[in-house]
Amino acid sequence: MITVIGSLNMDLVIQMADFPQQGETVLGQHFQTSPGGKGANQAIAAARLGSNVTMIGCVGDDRFGHTLRTVLEQEHIDTTSLLTTSESTGIANILVHHNDNRIIVVPGANYKLEPTHLDAVKDVITQSQMVILQLEIPTETTAHAIKLCKEANVPVLLNPAPAANFDMCWMDDITYLTPNEIECAQLFGNDFDQTLEKYPNKLIITLGRDGARYFDGEYPIHVPGYMTKAVDTTGAGDTFNGALAYALVEGQSLDEAVYFANIAASLAVEQVSAQGGMPTLSKVYARMA
Ligand code: ATP
Repeated sequence: MITVIGSLNMDLVIQMADFPQQGETVLGQHFQTSPGGKGANQAIAAARLGSNVTMIGCVGDDRFGHTLRTVLEQEHIDTTSLLTTSESTGIANILVHHNDNRIIVVPGANYKLEPTHLDAVKDVITQSQMVILQLEIPTETTAHAIKLCKEANVPVLLNPAPAANFDMCWMDDITYLTPNEIECAQLFGNDFDQTLEKYPNKLIITLGRDGARYFDGEYPIHVPGYMTKAVDTTGAGDTFNGALAYALVEGQSLDEAVYFANIAASLAVEQVSAQGGMPTLSKVYARMA
């Protein structure tokens, strides 16, 4: 069983011809809501591949919260450890103009996920085969999750986004860290080769269409991405992380698991929306064949 401890947001996406200036009102061209939040996305990525997934997070007692819970349940994700609070469900207001965007995130209920709630569902965490974390919940809750996992010997896959919320003192206690190139540079500086050597089989840097890199203790390993025509890369990283966790829990080697995650993420970028393109296991195997 994989447990994801993280965020759930409703994305409010507005396509527009131009961004409004200060004090100006403009008409948008198209509006759409889509379920998101890195935690929920990664949970869905793993569940769609066939993992048995439990989501620990917090939503508001409102329409978005109810929808996000239902979306997870439709993906057969266990939501019994999902908390409901009086704070509004987290949202991301995304203004899109051509290839440019402006995003406002209101974490809302996500920031009400406190360490005490993790204690209340401690059995779920300690019985997991792997726990997946991102950094869109309070830092003290992430720290507590890592501590509980360490005590129970549960492997932790941490996707450090946003990187500003990462605490370097977690490095020893987590099993895998999966920054993209920007996050990696923010955390460790620009010398990726040196950094990779420092964290063998732990640090996996995702490289967009170029795939991912890690150091196996002896050699630097570059697992190339699967070349495809990307339509929407939103959720590529989330699909990679969910798929990596799935593959590792299934007993694949790190090399096989990174290859598997690249293939899964390449399928996700071929379709619009973060969760929409996340593949099933048969789609990944079909591409690998
Ligand atoms: P995002 O924020 O867009 O969800 P990210 O910035 O967290 O993603 P990336 O390194 O851009 O992470 O991408 C994660 C993985 O997705 C890559 O390692 C790769 O496997 C896959 N991927 C991303 N972009 C492409 C692409 N254009 N073609 C094929 N695979 C891609």
